[in-house]
Amino acid sequence: EFARLDELGAQSGADDGEVVGAQPVLAVVGRPNVGKSTLVNRILGRREAVVQDVPGVTRDRVAYDALWAGRRFTLVDTGGWEQDADGLQGSVAAQADLAMSTADAVLLVVDATVGASATDEAVAKVLRRSKCPVILAANKVDDQRLIAETASLWSLGLGEPHPVSALHGRSSGDLLDTILAALPEAPREKRAPAAGPRRVALVGKPNVGKSSLLNKLTGEPRSVVDEAAGTTVDPVDSLVELDGQDWRFVDTAGLRKRVQTASGMEYYASLRTKTAIDAAEVVIVLLDASQPLSEQDLRVITMVSEAGRALVLAFNKWDLVDDDRRNQLEREIDRGLVRVPWAERVNVSALTGRAVRKLAPSLRTALESWDQRVSTGQLNSWLSELVAAKPPPVRGGKQPKVLFATQAGIRPPTLVLFTTGFLEAGYRRFVERKFRERFGFHGSPVRINVRVRE
Ligand code: GDP
Ligand code: GDP
Repeated sequence: EFARLDELGAQSGADDGEVVGAQPVLAVVGRPNVGKSTLVNRILGRREAVVQDVPGVTRDRVAYDALWAGRRFTLVDTGGWEQDADGLQGSVAAQADLAMSTADAVLLVVDATVGASATDEAVAKVLRRSKCPVILAANKVDDQRLIAETASLWSLGLGEPHPVSALHGRSSGDLLDTILAALPEAPREKRAPAAGPRRVALVGKPNVGKSSLLNKLTGEPRSVVDEAAGTTVDPVDSLVELDGQDWRFVDTAGLRKRVQTASGMEYYASLRTKTAIDAAEVVIVLLDASQPLSEQDLRVITMVSEAGRALVLAFNKWDLVDDDRRNQLEREIDRGLVRVPWAERVNVSALTGRAVRKLAPSLRTALESWDQRVSTGQLNSWLSELVAAKPPPVRGGKQPKVLFATQAGIRPPTLVLFTTGFLEAGYRRFVERKFRERFGFHGSPVRINVRVRE
């Protein structure tokens, strides 16, 4: 049962369109010296420095977050993929091929002062087969007189050449408008519900001390009336002030009334747990530290992780824990909770009030992680080092390459790795572990999706 936590990393496949769609990808291709880096810099507004090309050295960054007219997209500079194996023409064609299969649109950059070279023609030939839109940029059109030159680039068979000067910025706004029109619409990012207290679920098997803890936290609980309905309804949530901050504990009516004690209610209790988890942003799973971790505990933890909610494990009844039990518990945790080493942990006693104050900082940490976003530039400079130090294992005689990654979403944080082959679960876990070592994300699940080019 618990092994299912394993599967969290396994939501890979070529059709993660929904997640990837959260931020469309534009790949920039073209032969060396046509001005790709300059154009990338121009598009980024130089917000993220592009490492200068050094011949024979692959750039350590390939992907960046770009923003134009209020829309976000990921900009991939395929220069970072260059390999010299098949000569220039071959490598640029391979680059185009890779770009087509990973991006939502491709920007081919050509030097208008040179015109269409044999390499440009080879690349264009590859791109004409592309299912994704291709935009042709005629670069180095620094002044009006050069516009006429761009007409010859119609011969590439990629439609209208768009004149631009990456160096001076001329027409780069028009080019960006064209690019945005070609990219799929990105769904709006999920936003926090306007201000309002963060939503917490308090769950755990019967008798772990949920109602005791809630009573300890609230004293006399203030209830929340459903504002949306505008009428007096049975208040199901409680407003709780912890550490100077209001929190909305969801679906607590039952806890207070202790309806769950009725016999034969196990099914409804688990249904209620599920509902509460779904309604929450962060979940406190209450465990009885005086008893061995049970299957039921692990099931609830799995539920939280699968629902993608931030997680705080609170070990209750700490007043009953002696040294022997503490050692035993450590072993149970090592064995049972191996898939959620990232969970926030606190030891409390609802009876004595021990360490109950520590809940608020843990909730805050978990939510900060849940909301956290790593920029595409940061992510890729870290990733390229990681992959260089330990490449994915060879599978079926092939070495999958990790091309680049973006954080496609938050709540929970979701990464998408663009690769040339399947990454096994072990390697994805390695990536996740290293990712957490570098960027933290304590208290939040992190999803890693893999988009494999065909
Ligand atoms: P990349 O190899 O395709 O990434 O090309 P770079 O961006 O490194 O540019 C190659 C050279 O072309 C550099 O010396 C740039 O300054 C120059 N360059 C780039 N864009 C323009 C442009 O719009 N006009 C002119 N005149 N030169 C440019
Ligand atoms: P719920 O079913 O999860 O809501 O659990 P309750 O709050 O009803 O608690 C079940 C039993 O555990 C009650 O007898 C509580 O007094 C007891 N209990 C709760 N918290 C603690 C604690 O921290 N220490 C000890 N010793 N007993 C506790």
